[in-house]
Amino acid sequence: MQKYITIIVTMIYLLTTVGCRENAPANNGNFSYSVDRFADLEVLRYQVPGFEELKLNQKILIYYLSKAAIEGRDILYDQNNKYNLSIRKTLEAVYENYKGDRDSGNFKKFETYLKRVWFSNGIHHHYAMDKFEPGFEQAFFEEAVRSIPAETLPIYAYNGNVNTLLEAIIPVMFDKNLYAKRVNQTPGEDLIVTSANNYYEGVTQAEVESFYDAMKDSNDLTPISFGLNSKLMKEDGKMVEKQWKEGGMYTLAIEKIVYWLEKAQDVAENEQQKQIIKTLIEYYLTGNLKTFDEYSIRWVKDLNSRVDFINGFIETYGDPLGIKASWESIVNFKNLEATKRTEIISSNAQWFEDRSPVDSRFKKKVVKGVSAKVITAAMLGGDCFPPTPIGINLPNSNWIRQMHGSKSVTIENITEAYDKAGKGSGFAQEFVWSAEEIRLIDEYGFATGNIEVDLHECLGHGSGQLLPGVNPDALKAYGATIEEARADLFALYYIADKKLVELALLPDEEAYKAEYYRFMMNGLMTQLTRIELGNNIEESHMRNRQLIARWVLEKGAEERVVEFARRDGKTFVVINDYGKMRELVGALLAEIQRIKSEGDFNAAKELVETYGVKVDPELHKEVKERYEALGLAPYKGFVNPVYKPVLNKDGQIIDVKIEYGENFTEQMLRYTKEYANLQVVN
Ligand code: ZN
Repeated sequence: MQKYITIIVTMIYLLTTVGCRENAPANNGNFSYSVDRFADLEVLRYQVPGFEELKLNQKILIYYLSKAAIEGRDILYDQNNKYNLSIRKTLEAVYENYKGDRDSGNFKKFETYLKRVWFSNGIHHHYAMDKFEPGFEQAFFEEAVRSIPAETLPIYAYNGNVNTLLEAIIPVMFDKNLYAKRVNQTPGEDLIVTSANNYYEGVTQAEVESFYDAMKDSNDLTPISFGLNSKLMKEDGKMVEKQWKEGGMYTLAIEKIVYWLEKAQDVAENEQQKQIIKTLIEYYLTGNLKTFDEYSIRWVKDLNSRVDFINGFIETYGDPLGIKASWESIVNFKNLEATKRTEIISSNAQWFEDRSPVDSRFKKKVVKGVSAKVITAAMLGGDCFPPTPIGINLPNSNWIRQMHGSKSVTIENITEAYDKAGKGSGFAQEFVWSAEEIRLIDEYGFATGNIEVDLHECLGHGSGQLLPGVNPDALKAYGATIEEARADLFALYYIADKKLVELALLPDEEAYKAEYYRFMMNGLMTQLTRIELGNNIEESHMRNRQLIARWVLEKGAEERVVEFARRDGKTFVVINDYGKMRELVGALLAEIQRIKSEGDFNAAKELVETYGVKVDPELHKEVKERYEALGLAPYKGFVNPVYKPVLNKDGQIIDVKIEYGENFTEQMLRYTKEYANLQVVN
C-alpha cells in the first residue's frame, strides 16, 4: 500500500523553520527543485543525499536496479489503457517532427497535453481518474499528424496507414464519453465495463467476480493473489488470463527487466539479497504467483541490506475490484540516521496494539515483524513515477502480512523535495484559521507530518486481524478506503499519546495538535483543490481523509469539537477541543476495525458513501478559487536523477556518477528512446 503526500503536508512543510527533522540532507547550495509547471501539475527533482558515500558495489547495484526500474515504463501505459502507447508515440512523433508554428495556441495546448500524458502515464488524470481534455482542436491535430513523416508514427500496428491510426486514436482522445474514467467506483454500475483500464476486455464485473471466486478455496490459509499478474479477457467465448511474464504478455519489457536483475544479482550485497533477486527473476520467467509469494516472504525478511528495491506488479488501485496490479519500481537505500526513529516505533508495536481502542477480538495477539525504515529513493519507475508516494507498506498479501509481517518505509528525500520546493507559497496564510494554528504548524508540522506517515505505515496497516473465516476481499470496492482510514486513524490516535513524548519522538504533549489541525483542514477543505468542480471524490486515500474529517465534524457537532468558521467571507476550520477530537478518532478507529475484521460490507458502504464521497459544491468552489488565486499546483511529481557508470579501460565499472540536470521533457523523450520496449498493441 502506498501513501501519497497530501497537498497540505506539502505546503505545511515549507512553513517549518525549526530544525526538528533528523538528518536533513545537505542542500547543495543552488540546487533547483522545480523543473516544470503545467495544467494542475508541477514537476520537481529530488536529491539523493548519501549516494556518493555508498560502497562501489552498492552504487553498481543501484545502477543496475535503476535500469530495471525504467524498463517496465511502457507496461504501465498499456495497463492504464490499451490506446495509451499509440497515443503517446503519436504525440511524441508530432512533438519532435512538427515543422508548423510551434508558438501557436494549438501547439502550446498540444505540448501541455503531451506533458500531462507523460505525467499520468496515459490519457487519464493520475489521481482524479477521469480522461483529460486535449484543449487543442481536432483539425489541428489531424493536420499535424499528417504533416510529419509517416515512418515516425506507430503505424506498424495500423496496416501502415496513417488514416487507420487516426481513426483509432481520435475518438479515444476527443470523445468525452469514450473511456471516460480509468477507474470507475460508482456503485450500481458495472465497474469493469465502465473502467477504461486494460486489465480486462470483453468481460463483465459479474463474470470477473465469479471467475476468481471459483478459484478461491476458503480452507487455503496461504492463498496466492489470484489474477494479480494477468489480463482477463474472452477468446472464443471462453475466459482466458494473459499472463504478464517472459514469453507472455509484455515479454519484451520483462526480458529487459530480467536482464538487469541478473546483473544486479551478481553484485548483491549478501547471499540473502541474491536469493531475493533470484526468486524475483524466477517469478518473471514463470509468472507463478506461488513464486511471487516466496519472493515477498524473502523480501520482507531482509532487514539488513543497505540497498533495497521494489520491482513488479504490486499495487491494485488501478483495478476497481483490486485484483490486477500495476507495474512499479523504487530503488532505494536506507537512511541510517532517520531510521532510528522508525525503529523506536516498530520496536514498541506490541505496546500500541495492546492499548488501541478496538475490540480485543480484532487485535493481533502477537504483532510480527513490523519493520520500518526511512529510505532515500534513488530511482522511481512505473506506477511510482512521476507522481511518487511518500510512504510504502508491503507486501499486500494478507496472510503473508499476518505470518511474516510487512516492511514499511518513509521516503524522506521525497518529502524533503516537497518541503524545499514550495517555500513562501502563502498557503497557510490563506487557509489556516489563526496565528495560533500557524504557530503550531510552524513549530511541529514537519516532525508530526513525518511521524504520521511512520505510524500509518509501520503500525496502522500492520495492526489488527480478521476474524476467522472472513474473506479479505469482503469489502470489495470499499476495501481500499476502509484500509487507508484504518491506518490513518491508528496514526491519528497515537500521535496524540504521551507515549510518543516518552519515546522522544515528539518534543511535547502539544505537538500532535499541528497534525490534527492539518488533517482536519485538509480532509474538510483543502484537498478539494484536487477535484474538478462538479465531481465527487474517487481516489481511496482522499475518500478516507474526508470520511474521517466529516465523521469527526458531525459526531462532535453538539459539543462543537470541530467546526467551520467564517471570516471576511471565507471558510475556515476551527478545532475547539483537541482532547475530544482524539476520543472521536478512537471511536471511529474501533468501528472501522470492526468493519474490516467482520467483513461488514454494508457498514463499509454506508460509511464511505455518507462521509467520503460527496462534495459540498459551495465550499468546493470557494476553496478552488482561493487556491487558484495563489497560483499553486495541487499535484506534484518528479524527474529522476541520471546515473552514469565510469568505466576503466577494461570496461569495468569503477564508479557511478549521479547527475541532476535533465528537465522533464528531455527525460521523457530519452526514456522513450532508450526504453521503447513495447509495441503499441501487446
Ligand atoms: Zn496506506
